[in-house]
Amino acid sequence: MLLKTKGKPLNILKPIVAKVTRNAFALDSNLILIIDDQYIGFVEREFKVIITTHNLSSDRIDTPYVHSITSLEHLREGDIIVVNTDGVINTLYRAESNHNFILVTERCNSNCLMCSQPPKDKNDIDYLFEIHKQLIPLIPKSCFELGITGGEPTLMGNSFFELLELIKYELPETEVHCLTNGRSFAWRSIADRLGVLDFNRLMLGIPLYSDYYLTHDYIVQAKDAFNQTIQGLYNLAANNQRIEIRVVLQQQSIPRLVKLAKFIYKNLPFVEHIAFMGLENQGYTPHNIDKLWIDPVDYMNELGEAVEFLSSKDLNVSIYNSQLCLMPKDLWDYSRRSISDWKNIYFEECTKCAVVNECGGFFASAETMRSKNLRAITY
Ligand code: SF4
Repeated sequence: MLLKTKGKPLNILKPIVAKVTRNAFALDSNLILIIDDQYIGFVEREFKVIITTHNLSSDRIDTPYVHSITSLEHLREGDIIVVNTDGVINTLYRAESNHNFILVTERCNSNCLMCSQPPKDKNDIDYLFEIHKQLIPLIPKSCFELGITGGEPTLMGNSFFELLELIKYELPETEVHCLTNGRSFAWRSIADRLGVLDFNRLMLGIPLYSDYYLTHDYIVQAKDAFNQTIQGLYNLAANNQRIEIRVVLQQQSIPRLVKLAKFIYKNLPFVEHIAFMGLENQGYTPHNIDKLWIDPVDYMNELGEAVEFLSSKDLNVSIYNSQLCLMPKDLWDYSRRSISDWKNIYFEECTKCAVVNECGGFFASAETMRSKNLRAITY
């Protein structure tokens, strides 16, 4: 699904964040008007900016425009976008989706072997924070869930807490799920600051790939990461924070998966949820595929034992990003449709499958790497 497009900018002096409409007679001047094949006509009203597929190169225009955009079909009424000075248009919030997230930085202090969004060493924090400060008040109050992702969000420093405060205030009903490697919370003062915020709709999704520090540090490619994450988890628990442990299922994590489950039960029983997650063939993964790939059917014994153990101890366990035909029926109840709608696909075989509506399907990146054992379920 397209989340970014580009056209030729006219009179765009700074990034503009607003909701889009195709209603040229809308009374709200805080909107961005889309003029594409669905609307071609004279615009009487004022808009923050007009974006169009038409070529206006020869026109004399003194209001903000982006023209000659290849397609705007991906935008729906009420979506929120940012129009940048260079004519790049990014979708920030999709009105019809339950999988909205805000990317707060591409910087990270880890460099995981299977990172789907490899870190970039660029100073994007201030720019993105300015954009998100405009975005958050525009998000409908009915938004059920909002993700925060990176990079590593805590690298925002003070702005991380300002962002959370803003979301807490502007979106009083929204569940917030923040992906973080948890290492920053090894500093007690940072975890304490989250405690002071008292934001009980916030869940922190923190990866833990092994019970053995060297394996975890190798997977995240960062020395001392295991110790920092564990210390961070304890500091967060001391501040009553809600925590989800995320374990990516891949060649390096499978041999100690059951030991990791026992470690979590013994040492981290305060976590609210444990998610075992199938691998996404994106970002670094294709480059490290020989170190990472293992066919899911070949790790079902370990996964089954880990899941059943944690569940037997009354811990809340899920399996994400996985396909029902590759797992024993005993595990189906733990499987969730977790892949974001904009990158969730099914293959030809799935069209013949009786459980396609319950199955999580695949990441779009599975086009190039997936199990050879895919079989439609027929009763
Ligand atoms: S055939 Fe497709 S829809 Fe059916 S269980 Fe397998 S992956 Fe899921």
